[in-house]
Amino acid sequence: MAIDQTDCIFCKIIEGELPAKVVYEDDQVIAFEDIHPKAKIHLLLVPRSHISSLEQLEVKHEALISHLLLLLPDLARRQGLQDGFRTIINTGRGGGQEVDHLHIHLLGGSQLPGF
Ligand code: 5GP
Repeated sequence: MAIDQTDCIFCKIIEGELPAKVVYEDDQVIAFEDIHPKAKIHLLLVPRSHISSLEQLEVKHEALISHLLLLLPDLARRQGLQDGFRTIINTGRGGGQEVDHLHIHLLGGSQLPGF
């Protein structure tokens, strides 16, 4: 199915067409605060390239995914999350995904309930 990236909120944030509180960026990824935080700290870590969800991942994305995962503890430390953090990737409507651009939620800052 073709994806119209012009309708993608996260692509617009990446392009600077929509505002966001960016806390980290490099040539491959960007991290910004979630507009409706579900914890004291709630970031979204997002690849710059438009990948709709985990379902669209291919072997060619291996280095990008490694980069995303390796960044998470570093981002958490930068946010002062000394005591741990939670990461979530929602996939598809049944998995609770609302924005069809792959992203990792990073949450923490207070005791999170068991999952
Ligand atoms: P999903 O349910 O797709 O895993 O999560 C999407 C997340 O994106 C939600 O937590 C939602 O609050 C956040 N979000 C939706 N639109 C915007 C926006 O325009 N700016 C920011 N910073 N976050 C957004």
